[in-house]
Formats: sequence, C-alpha cells, structure tokens
Amino acid sequence: MAKNKFHEFRERLKQCRLCRDMIGFEPKPVVWGTPEAKIVQISQAPSKKVHETGKPFNDLSGAKLREWYGIHEDIFYNQKLFYMTDIYHCYLGKDIKRGDAKPPLNCAKKWLHEELSLIYNEIYLIIGRVPTNFLFPKKNFNELIFNDQTFNGKSAYVLPHPSPQNIKWFKDHPEFYDRVLPKIKGIVHEVIYKK
Ligand code: SF4
Repeated sequence: MAKNKFHEFRERLKQCRLCRDMIGFEPKPVVWGTPEAKIVQISQAPSKKVHETGKPFNDLSGAKLREWYGIHEDIFYNQKLFYMTDIYHCYLGKDIKRGDAKPPLNCAKKWLHEELSLIYNEIYLIIGRVPTNFLFPKKNFNELIFNDQTFNGKSAYVLPHPSPQNIKWFKDHPEFYDRVLPKIKGIVHEVIYKK
C-alpha cells in the first residue's frame, strides 16, 4: 500500500510542468530512490548534466560526496540505500537566480513534504545552503553543520555544498575536515552496513 502511494506520487511529480513558462524549456523532474531507502539526501537542484542524464550528482560534486562518505558509486546509486531529492526537482537553467523568493520555493512547497512523508529513511543528509535555509529557517548555516540536528523526528546532518565553486567556504572552515567528515563517514557506514 505504502509503495503504491509512493509510485502514484512519483508519477504525479514526473508529470509536473509548473515551471515551464518561467524556465523557457521543458522541465524534467528528477526522482531517484525507493521508499525503503535508508538515507535521504536533500540538495538544491539538478545540474544541467543531471537534467540530461536523469542521474543525481552525476558530476564533480557527486564524486566529492562519495569521497566524503567513503563509498563507491554502486552504493551511492543503490536506490534502496540512497534516496536523492532536491528543493527544486528540475534543472532551472542558468538564468534563474536560485534562492530568490519567487520561483524557487514553489517546488519545495508543492512536493517536498509529501515526498518525504513517503520515505522510511533513518537519516537525512542535507547538502548546501539553499535546502538548509528552507528546512531550518533563520538558523545559522555554519552552526547547523557543526552540530547534529533533528528533522522530521530523525537525525539530520547538514553539509556544505561539495561543488568546486564553494572553495572559499572550505578555506574558511578547515576544521570541517576533522570535526565533521569522519563523523559523517562513520554514520553513513553504520546506516548502510548494519545488519
Ligand atoms: S521544479 Fe518542481 S515545481 Fe517546477 S516543474 Fe519541476 S517539479 Fe514542477
């Protein structure tokens, strides 16, 4: 029954074209994962490459996340282990300023709550400032990264976006590598590999 609900949701989401006029091309909502996934990863929006392939984090940022988690692609893309979603489910093109009040939050407000209610994950990994600001409004991004959180009654861990373009944040916060990453890797491994 729960699976049917998820599949019905998934089909509705994949048909969504709400942002077509705004972005000027055909939206392609990306959905990746199954309701039994142990980890839900929430990020900002699919990149152009993800739009073209339908595969989340199919880029340098994905490689960096796998390095942080200490896992290979076969684990990362195992849809019974990782459910990957975004605040905006579609690539919005280069011209849309994400983080603006208007189009951006329409997608999260329309889909995210229902989507997350259908997944039986154990933990959340929240990637980057935009989804973090949406899920933890008015809280300090850096403090969220360096302290464990709870979201939807489950453990949640906030991470900076792994994009190479985020290099300044990593330069400004070298303690991230010692204080946060080993813990994240341990938690991901525990959730994935425990019997
Ligand atoms: S970004 Fe979200 S709201 Fe906009 S078309 Fe895609 S699925 Fe629909």
